Amino acid sequence: MTGEGGAPSDDLMEKVVNLCKRRGFIFPSAEIYGGFRSTYDYGPLGANMLRNVKGAWWRSMVQERDDVVGIDAAILSSPRIWEASGHLANFTDPLVDCRNCHERWRADKIGESCPNCGSTDLTEPRAFNLMFKTYAGPVEEEATVAYLRPETAQGMFVNFLNVLQTTRKHPPFGIAQVGKSFRNEITPQNFVFRTREFEQMELEYFVPPDQAQKWFEYWLDERMRWYRNLGIPEDKLRLRHHEPDELSHYSAGTADVEFLFPWGWDELEGIANRTDYDLNAHGARSGEKLEYFDQASGERYVPYVIEPAAGATRTMMAFLLAAYDEDEVGGERRTVLHLDHRLAPYQVAVLPLSKNDALVPLSRTVLQKLQPLCMCDFDVTQSIGRRYRRQDEIGTPWCVTVDFDSLEDEAVTVRDRDTTEQVRVPIAGLDDEVRRRLG
Ligand code: ATP
Repeated sequence: MTGEGGAPSDDLMEKVVNLCKRRGFIFPSAEIYGGFRSTYDYGPLGANMLRNVKGAWWRSMVQERDDVVGIDAAILSSPRIWEASGHLANFTDPLVDCRNCHERWRADKIGESCPNCGSTDLTEPRAFNLMFKTYAGPVEEEATVAYLRPETAQGMFVNFLNVLQTTRKHPPFGIAQVGKSFRNEITPQNFVFRTREFEQMELEYFVPPDQAQKWFEYWLDERMRWYRNLGIPEDKLRLRHHEPDELSHYSAGTADVEFLFPWGWDELEGIANRTDYDLNAHGARSGEKLEYFDQASGERYVPYVIEPAAGATRTMMAFLLAAYDEDEVGGERRTVLHLDHRLAPYQVAVLPLSKNDALVPLSRTVLQKLQPLCMCDFDVTQSIGRRYRRQDEIGTPWCVTVDFDSLEDEAVTVRDRDTTEQVRVPIAGLDDEVRRRLG
């Protein structure tokens, strides 16, 4: 915590969860029916922020590069994908039951005793497949079984040739995707940290095999930079290299980007050198040659893959936790989210000083001037001080106040969330000023 007398981190989680609910970032799903098994709905603010998290990722991983292209693959697809990838056989967690209180746990996440009742009378672990099963078509039979994808990555591997042929890219190049994934987690927990339905942001970066280590290190640096650049403080972010006995069967090296959550260090993103495992596996199953032919050298090879795999929903939660602060302004305590303006649900709030007949139409003109540039809130209720606090609490970086002087001098006050400094800006130049601040 950064603010004077800031909230201790043990109740930080509770405060952020409450704020999310109270202000419309994240609601428990189907709340009017008592909720549904750790699923969540993103409200007006959360939907904006989640889009911004995904947008910031897409911008850095796709838009600002000429060696990465994006795709958007189907969530339901051939079960043969999951045979080839090993998910049908291996995508399991070890499940144990407590014989005393009948709670279920992931054996690898608990010690010798039940975290609920403390009993050590646990069943032997058994493998539980995390994929959600369904049927494609009206008949529920083995031939129509399909799975909701448990990761977005396989969409990139099965489209490798399509992308290669249509884009004329050549290694090193990448295919990126953002979208929903589903895992039937045994113990969803910690708010949106671990849920059964979540969003991922994944890149598969295909390289000549002898360059794999170099690109692995490159992506470790790049991804750490991305989190820091969007406001995760240095002391809450670290890279943890997996021990050799921790590595997945396909990996020649994995490191996790970890964030200091209120319960300790935990994963935001896994970055792995997946070797040529996936392209070979799909090549063998499908009979297609998933390889690259280098016309210049006459060489044919299966590229290695470096995969930075991040969670959008989990990352959004980390940004919220890192941004939460309580400080004092003019002798009054406030809650403030120091969100980077690129992530905040609204960049600007337009606030007429009062509901006065002359101020509201002018404020609407100001609003319409800014709406093409960024997300704007518009709020006329309550005192201006209360409205500033409400905007601070949801992380709006700039408030634009239209007051009685505005009718005379055709200028407005722009207030900064973090410093609370106010400057007077002519309405005619307001769009340029906001554009400058948005960078
Ligand atoms: P864990 O060990 O925590 O189950 P994982 O190592 O299996 O996660 P990956 O398969 O590497 O996770 O997935 C990449 C990223 O997707 C994770 O770093 C995380 O941000 C996100 N993610 C994975 N599972 C979930 C989930 N159940 N809920 C929310 N995000 C998830």
